[in-house]
Amino acid sequence: MHSLLKPAFIRALRECYVYKGDDYQNVIVHEASHLFMHYHNYYGVPKWINEGLSTFFESLYLDEKGRVYVDPQKGRIMQVGGFVNDNTLNLTQFLSPANNAAWNLKDQATAQYSIAYAIVYYIIKTNPQLIKQILNMLNNGKSSYDVLSQCYGSFEFFESRFKLYYSKFR
Ligand SMILES: [Zn+2]
Repeated sequence: MHSLLKPAFIRALRECYVYKGDDYQNVIVHEASHLFMHYHNYYGVPKWINEGLSTFFESLYLDEKGRVYVDPQKGRIMQVGGFVNDNTLNLTQFLSPANNAAWNLKDQATAQYSIAYAIVYYIIKTNPQLIKQILNMLNNGKSSYDVLSQCYGSFEFFESRFKLYYSKFR
């Protein structure tokens, strides 16, 4: 979320504050999922999976029978498709701790959320059972590069499949 009044998940209080606006329901889901992660002791995970999952949760909705649906975030998917087709996406760099500063840069934050969302969306779409394993490995302090390498056989394999998937969106 990138409004001037940033909704904040206050870790110490285990509460979240949301400013009511047009998309406040999505904001509530986003912030509540951070709270959920905190309750389940996922303290140590990198920013990309924390924000990627929360952005993914924003896109879930329930029908009148209580069934859960995923409404893909098309804008973010198209943005990542653009990066892949322009050959400007460096996943190794994105996943490195050195990239954390980019999340706080006004002109880069939207792209950071989109790439994080795209990684989570891709994993859930192709190997939903992997997400918990990835979360646990990251929470145990393994690097994002090592975790994806291990789960997909090699990092290059993960990257090539990810890019192939998003190259269709342009
Ligand atoms: Zn967030």
